[in-house]
Amino acid sequence: MAQRVAVSDVAGGSKRTSRVRVAVRLRPYMEKQDEKAEGACVRGLGPQSLEIINWRNSTETLQYQFDVFYGEQTTQQEVFLTSVKPILPHILNGQNASVFAYGPTGAGKTHTMLGTQEQPGVIPRAVREVFQLVRAQEKAGDDWDYTIGMSYLEIYNEKVLDLLSPSTQDLPIREDKDRNIFIPGLTHTTLSSFSDFHTHFIPASLNRTTASTKLNHRSSRSHAILLIKVEKSQRVPPHRQQTGKLYLVDLAGSEDNRRTGNQGLRLKESGAINLSLFTLSKVVDSLNLGVGRVPYRDSKLTRLLQDSLGGSAHSIMITNIAPEQKYYFDTFSALNFAAKSKLIVNKPFVRETVSSNESGKRARQEPASEAATEPQ
Ligand code: ADP
Ligand code: MG
Repeated sequence: MAQRVAVSDVAGGSKRTSRVRVAVRLRPYMEKQDEKAEGACVRGLGPQSLEIINWRNSTETLQYQFDVFYGEQTTQQEVFLTSVKPILPHILNGQNASVFAYGPTGAGKTHTMLGTQEQPGVIPRAVREVFQLVRAQEKAGDDWDYTIGMSYLEIYNEKVLDLLSPSTQDLPIREDKDRNIFIPGLTHTTLSSFSDFHTHFIPASLNRTTASTKLNHRSSRSHAILLIKVEKSQRVPPHRQQTGKLYLVDLAGSEDNRRTGNQGLRLKESGAINLSLFTLSKVVDSLNLGVGRVPYRDSKLTRLLQDSLGGSAHSIMITNIAPEQKYYFDTFSALNFAAKSKLIVNKPFVRETVSSNESGKRARQEPASEAATEPQ
């Protein structure tokens, strides 16, 4: 039996531009993350759907649908090409965009955004592409001069901190008369090339990770926000000016700090819920439902992103999840946030015990016919 629990894909027609696209990316099973070698508790079903065990009733699975589902075999290149590259040309036309990595600590946010030297993530690929797009415009000889610049900041405990000038204190967020959001005093560095970007970004991002180990897992509790700005000015009258902003955000871990392991809720005195992350969930929900007031002003992160999230901006949230049992409840809550729809399907989830080098091979099961044929 298939039971529809929630459908929230009501964003259509004129509302479509303010929708935030939601992708889910499942990272590969990593044996060392799973002491009991219990096997994956999540698996992909198709290009937009996955299933997990229903913890309330193990004879059922929960099947979720998203704009995009990226299985554990998905490459960095594929994520970039399908989710990020298509929105970048808008930055050259004075529009704004934002890309977020959401999900619990350990599920792959930094891998998705930053990646490694061998497998570069969204950030280096997007910045390289912005340079290429600008160079192509310059070559084509249009009437505009282009400037590319960057800022890099962190929101930690509702404080805005400049990662390119670490000695600065909490910076204010302001709005100008044209409703553009800006941060007075934030370092903005002009970039002349992609290697120039590397020179400025890498030490600042290393700074952040080394500081984090000393400061009680700070990097998992703060939002790292890279801003790439493309400013263009017309060489001939009427000398128009345009600015496009791209925010690339590695969010704080979405795990509930009040819970430890899978023991259910247990209050810990340090466990304040991250206000900005909580508000971001509400903002994305209200944008995608197209109803109610969008509570941008309720947190620093959403206030900063107000002109680059929803409205005419192009936004994508990549929700990262991990397949191991110890992440189950964090996966469950991340999926409930990300899902366009959820089905409860009466079909036990047969788990395989996997070793990491076999994690790509999935146990085959009969498809749940009711779920598969039900109209979406
Ligand atoms: P987060 O930033 O969400 O805490 P990380 O990006 O640090 O998580 O990922 C945790 C670990 O999993 C890292 O060792 C990372 O290299 C690895 N990892 C994450 N996603 C993938 C992936 N898609 N493919 C291979 N390894 C991954
Ligand atoms: Mg990280």
